[in-house]
Amino acid sequence: MAKNTTRPRLSFEVFPPNSKVGVENLTSTLDELRNLDPSFISVTCSNHKLDYEKTTIDLAKYVHDSLKCPTMVHMPAAYVTKTQVARILDELEELNINQVLVLRGDIIDGFAPESDFKYASDLTKFIKQQKPFFEVSGACYPEVHPDSKNRIDDVRHLKEKVDAGCDQLITQLFYDNEQFYRFQEECAIAGINVPILAGIMPIVNRKQALHVVENCSAHLPKKFLAILDKYKDNPVALKEAGIAYAVDQIVDLVTNDVDGVHLYTMNKSDTAKHIYENTASLFNLAPTAELE
Ligand code: FAD
Repeated sequence: MAKNTTRPRLSFEVFPPNSKVGVENLTSTLDELRNLDPSFISVTCSNHKLDYEKTTIDLAKYVHDSLKCPTMVHMPAAYVTKTQVARILDELEELNINQVLVLRGDIIDGFAPESDFKYASDLTKFIKQQKPFFEVSGACYPEVHPDSKNRIDDVRHLKEKVDAGCDQLITQLFYDNEQFYRFQEECAIAGINVPILAGIMPIVNRKQALHVVENCSAHLPKKFLAILDKYKDNPVALKEAGIAYAVDQIVDLVTNDVDGVHLYTMNKSDTAKHIYENTASLFNLAPTAELE
């Protein structure tokens, strides 16, 4: 497998909040995240609301214009039409935002919005036809997408997505780096040669751990389950251990030449800051405080 010879990149994901309080919290979170000098901040999209342009695009505008931070916009293929995408792309170009993370979006039973795209690769192709200079990222799954028959099928479709124009991939969160290394090898064998950024989401409470297990098809290794068990009645210790676990994962990934780390921040800056302070020099970023 080709080794990454450039410095790995650190990026963050945030989501559009649902409430006024959430907006206020996110504003200060974003100020803090901006100070950590990420290579970009990505803004998620929600399937449950169809006000994509008011939520995702508006927040992306804020990150780009007010914070002057490179911005990536998530776009859900199964929830948009060609007309809508063409209009949004023009708008993004005018704003100088040219990074898009193309997703199929989760399919919700009984909900069939109007769309011209079935898979993320269909939307990728369309964006590259409309705006060849846009950088398109795609999602990938070290532990296999739940809809896939098997690993081979999943990687085959991933190769089609890259051939459709994906410039880089960002993984679903995972807690066992060996799963990621195996996936990297499978991609290399399949001829997938674009950068793969590792998606890391520190688990800082039990509710979040449950959510990960139920919704993200990521398995929690024994080492992590032991932490959850040991600190089940001590939320402060659990949070610290969860952050330390993420730092350990990142150190190992960077040591093994990962192309980049994409941190799922859950709109919380304190966890991201802790991780940054313990890994900044791995990314050649300035630490926030001088070491003694
Ligand atoms: P696709 O690449 O379209 O793949 C979906 C499934 O279809 C896979 O099983 C794939 O193997 C299969 N497949 C692909 N092409 C074909 C084909 N031609 N024939 C048959 N099968 C095929 N969701 C949101 O709603 N909002 C977000 O902001 C969001 N952000 C995300 C960020 C990251 C980094 C990741 C990893 C996921 C994110 N998701 C988000 C979740 C994502 O939308 C879901 O996981 C969704 O179920 C699949 O999206 P995809 O883009 O991977 O789909």
